[in-house]
Order: sequence, then structure tokens, then C-alpha cells
Amino acid sequence: MAPTVLSVRDDMLAVLERLGVAAGLLTGEGLEARSPIDGLAVGRLRETTPEEAEAVLARAAAAFPAWRRVPAPRRGELVRLLGEELRAAKADLGRLVTLEAGKILSEGLGEVQEMIDICDFAVGLSRQLHGLTIATERPDHRMMEVWHPLGPCGVITAFNFPVAVWSWNAALALVCGDPVVWKPSEKTPLTALAVQAIAGRALARFGADAPEGLLQVLIGGRALGERLVADPRIPLVSATGSTAMGRQVAPVLAGRFARAILELGGNNAAIVAPSADLDLALRAVAFAAMGTAGQRCTTLRRLFVHESVHGDVLDRLRRAYASVRIGDPRDSATLVGPLIDPAAADDMARALDEARALGATVHGGERLTGIRGEAAAYVRPALVEMRAQAGPMRRETFAPILYAVPYRELEEAIAAQNAVAAGLSSSIFTRDLAEAETFLSVAGSDCGIANVNIGPSGAEIGGAFGGEKETGGGREAGSDSWKAYMRRATNTINYGRTLPLAQGVSFEL
Ligand code: NAD
Repeated sequence: MAPTVLSVRDDMLAVLERLGVAAGLLTGEGLEARSPIDGLAVGRLRETTPEEAEAVLARAAAAFPAWRRVPAPRRGELVRLLGEELRAAKADLGRLVTLEAGKILSEGLGEVQEMIDICDFAVGLSRQLHGLTIATERPDHRMMEVWHPLGPCGVITAFNFPVAVWSWNAALALVCGDPVVWKPSEKTPLTALAVQAIAGRALARFGADAPEGLLQVLIGGRALGERLVADPRIPLVSATGSTAMGRQVAPVLAGRFARAILELGGNNAAIVAPSADLDLALRAVAFAAMGTAGQRCTTLRRLFVHESVHGDVLDRLRRAYASVRIGDPRDSATLVGPLIDPAAADDMARALDEARALGATVHGGERLTGIRGEAAAYVRPALVEMRAQAGPMRRETFAPILYAVPYRELEEAIAAQNAVAAGLSSSIFTRDLAEAETFLSVAGSDCGIANVNIGPSGAEIGGAFGGEKETGGGREAGSDSWKAYMRRATNTINYGRTLPLAQGVSFEL
């Protein structure tokens, strides 16, 4: 590991060079690339112009007819090569995630591992994109469904998972026969360019079966995202980011009958029941609430603690919050790195002020300016003791704030957990089977993810990932999420010599 004394900019330039991204890219005018580690600009990047965006979209549309005819297992071979290239680049790309998004190194590496995992999953999937054969009511007929490629897929991503979310979409879209146009977050363009360079190496090894324009990237801000969302050549947009973004994107897609996979904000909760293994629960809560500096969509933000264990749990949490190591995320001792920018720290301070005004007791939450200078936004995670769920506890503040509330009856805790607008992830800590099953039942958590004895964050790629209500309802990654990237055709074949009509309808000429 490079020593942390290396300037952030030098560290970044060295990693970019090793990843095959030309350092010359950073000398131009345009989008500012910065690292949250010191909050300083690394350089400027040329943004994709509207004319270039048009050419990108035209290339993606032109690539589709060629790519959809490549047999799916052969498409899987490209994703297998992508997985190999990601394995080779893991150390550098993981470090770049740390440098550009501020995650601690093990999480930066973990994000790349997630990319490798979804590639492996998609390679297997490339031989399993199968439909059903269905019993028909008519003699000498056969009915079946077939899954066909859909068309170019637009992928819009957030800063906090700057590379994994692209891969969840791209690995599946590629095996499903769809070209991909990616609009990464304007806060993390360098990781996107690095992924593009890595994918370029896989494409070069794959050869001529891959048409030009199969995997492309648009570098810039919201206007480019809007361009992608509005384009009739893009039948599916997978958009990850805030609920505010989803509110703008969803009506545009609906207006042109395009498909949407929306992966939006969360306001995730955990319940600590009387029978919980408190050592395990404390470790899980600490990681879920403070990990990634509270900047995961699945970050634990609300904790409901049974009144019989509330005092003990809060004592232990206060100690954990006071002692957690905050610092340069490249340092292996650090557990909490910086927030993405000072605006995020301002949002956090505002939410804490609102909680104080409601009579809450706030532990931690202060800005730490002595770590890497004034421009960086390091904060101590905040533990907020609330009397009841109210005020800022009801919304997502994208920062490490954990609101804790005591409860008496499980039904009351489940109702409070469900009484917010988002519906992404949730957990219960209990050794009581009836409590665990109630939480997972139809009368339990209303979230897309509901866990027992693990925190709400840190999903694996094997399951479908996503949430309900204002989280957007999309599902991506594992299980049968691939179906969103394909269109289903139902085929009925008559191999007889008569024409029996369904439902006994008679139409004799
Ligand atoms: P953001 O909404 O500011 O930006 C996300 C992306 O959307 C960026 O690429 C941005 O340029 C683009 N964008 C913004 N407005 C747009 C518009 N009108 N049309 C098209 N594109 C537009 O989000 P952020 O600050 O980068 O990320 C944090 C948010 O993302 C949090 O709310 C977090 O919960 C959420 N998130 C959700 C998931 C999930 O899977 N549910 C995963 C990661 C992050």
C-alpha cells in the first residue's frame, strides 16, 4: 500500500496511469474532478458535448441489431473477459474508488469484488435466459415464451457506488443482448473512465463480434442524464440516485412508455428486540450506521430498541461512536472516511439542529477540520437519542446520523419502521423465532430487503436488490432481475390442420 503521506493528486495520477487512463485527460477545461480525501481539485475533464452525446446514442442504437444476434453464451464470454480484466485491475480500481469517493480501502476493494461477482453471475446467466413452455387449451398447439434483447440500456449512477452499480446493470444488459450507455455521477467521473478503459481491454480481447458502441460513457452532469432519459432510442433506463432525481426521471420515461429501473433513496431501520444477541447487534449496527461514512443507500439511519435493553444498547453505542477511527480512508486503521463534499456536512449539521430543536440528545456529529485540511468534509458520526420518530428522522440525510428510539411492543416498532416514505432495507435482531417470522411476514417490514440478525447494508449480488415506495420499486443484480433487460414474446404454434379458437369462440365463414 502506498504511504498516506503521498499527496492525493499524485496518488490519483499514479493509479490512473496504471489503469490505462491518460493523465492528459485531466488538464482540460470543464468538469472538475476532486477527491473528498482533501477536498481539492485534481484537475478538469472535458465534458461530453451535446453533439458527442447524440453520436453516442446513435452508435448505441446501431450496435443493437448486431449485438442481439450474437448468441447469448458468446455474449457471456465478453462478460467473462470483463471479469478477468477487473480481477487484474482490482487493487488499482479499488484504490481509485477510495480516492474519488472517499470509501475506506477495504470498501473500495469490496466494490470491485462486487463487480467481479456480478460478472461471474452474468456469465452463468448467459446460458439460462430461458422462458416457459405453457400448456394450451387447444389441441395440436404449443405455447411458449421467449426472451429477446430489449435495446440500448441507459445507466445513470450515483457517487456513492461509482462503479458497482454500473456493473450490476452492464453485466446483465450485455448478456441480455443490450448495448449500454452510462452517465456516471459528475462527482465521480474518473472511476467511470477507468472502468471504460478496463472494459476496452475486455472488448479488444473479445474481438470483432462486439460492435462499436456497445459500452459507452457520457461524462458530465444532470443535463446529459436528462438527454439519455428523454431519448426514444433508449427503451430502458436504470437510474440510481436520490428520490428527487427519480421524481424527475420517472414521468419522462412513463411519458414515452420506456422502462424504468429506479434505485432511489432509503431511510433504513433496525429493530433490536429483547432477546437479541447484543454483541452481534452492536457490531452490525456500527457497521451499517457508520460504515461508508453513512453514505450508502442501505445505511442504517433509524434504530428502534426495546425498552428492556435500551439503556445497555445506547451505552455501548455511545462508546462506539466516541471511539470510532475517523481519517484518511487510505489508512488501514480508518473506519470512517470523509463525506463527499462540504455540502453533505452542511446537510448533516442542519438535520442535527432540527433534531436538537425537537429535544433530542445528540452525541458526536461535529465537523473535524484537522484531518486533511479545511476543504475536506470529515465528521464524527452522530448518535441521536429521540423520544419518538419525528422531524429529520423521517427523511434520508446522506450522512452518518443514527436516530435511536425506544419501543415497547414489536407491532409498534414495525409500524414506526414502515411509517416513512422510503422502503429500501430493514433488519431485526432477535433470537425469538416468532418475532423474526413476524418481521418477515406480510404484516412485517414493507421494504425490498428485510434481514434477520444482520444489518440492512452490505447486500450480496445473488439476490434482487431494490426497494419499494419512494425508493422507486426497481430491482437489479441477482435472482430474476435480468428480465427487465429483455422483452418477453409469447408464441403459440398450431401444428394441426384445424383452427380451434380459444375460449370456445366460433367464427365459421
Ligand atoms: P443524485 O440524485 O444527486 O445523482 C444521481 C445521478 O443522477 C447523477 O449521475 C446525476 O447527474 C443524475 N441526475 C440528477 N438529476 C437528473 C435528472 N433530472 N435526469 C437525469 N439524471 C439526473 O444522487 P447522489 O447524490 O449522487 O447519490 C446519493 C443518493 O443516491 C442517495 O439518495 C442514495 O440513497 C441514492 N442511492 C440509491 C441507491 C439504490 O440502489 N437505491 C444506490 C446508491 C445511491
